[in-house]
Amino acid sequence: MTETASPTEIDGPNFDSARSEMVARQIRDRGIRSPRVLQAICAVPRHQFVPAESLSEAYADAPLPIGEGQTISQPYIVAAMTEALRLEGRERVLEIGAGSGYQAAVLSLLAREVIAVESQPVLASRARLLLARLGYMNVCIEEGDGTLGWPSRAPYDAILVAAAAPHVPQALRDQLAEGGRMVIPVGEMDYQELICIEKAHGGLVRRSLGGCRFVPLVGRCGWQRSSVNSLELARE
Ligand code: SAH
Repeated sequence: MTETASPTEIDGPNFDSARSEMVARQIRDRGIRSPRVLQAICAVPRHQFVPAESLSEAYADAPLPIGEGQTISQPYIVAAMTEALRLEGRERVLEIGAGSGYQAAVLSLLAREVIAVESQPVLASRARLLLARLGYMNVCIEEGDGTLGWPSRAPYDAILVAAAAPHVPQALRDQLAEGGRMVIPVGEMDYQELICIEKAHGGLVRRSLGGCRFVPLVGRCGWQRSSVNSLELARE
């Protein structure tokens, strides 16, 4: 017997009240207005996507470690990026950096299908199994280098990049459909600007959504593994 009740005991097994509270305080009160986005985030059980040792933090206002040196993004960032894509339900969406699969689950409730690419094999297979177990049938997790996009299913009506890029990879520009939207953090390895790009009449229009901090996008057209390692060494 322990003195303090576990979060499951306090909140019920579904963490429903923690999730509603998260959506109200961290997301709606900070300006995310799309009812569809708020509903989708309310419907996805975030606690299923975090490691057991972080269960009590699942609805906290922060990113959390998910293994392999990676993180599940802060709930507000997931909401802001999702809202910027303005999904109506018919889109084919590409996510780069599937991680835990949480963001892909949110997108899957708002679009026709989601192709989510993850470069770390352990994370890709874990996300694939979890999404299948939770019944997200319109998400396909692919393992590979997302800096090259996923050409076999292109073009995409929306692209969400969940890792920090030094610049917008050419393959992603090319694989974005006419009229499509892309959200991507671009900048230095330890600080970026979240940008939303729209492809209109063949050209790209870009606007800033503010500053942010993501783990690096590592790949052929992203950061090189060696520069990520030297930044990590410099921090130790
Ligand atoms: N969207 C995720 C969190 C993403 S963290 C979630 O909801 O949990 C960023 C992810 O990008 C990490 O899992 C990392 O392994 C992945 N990543 C980094 N470089 C990549 C690349 N070139 N291609 C695909 N995934 C990459």
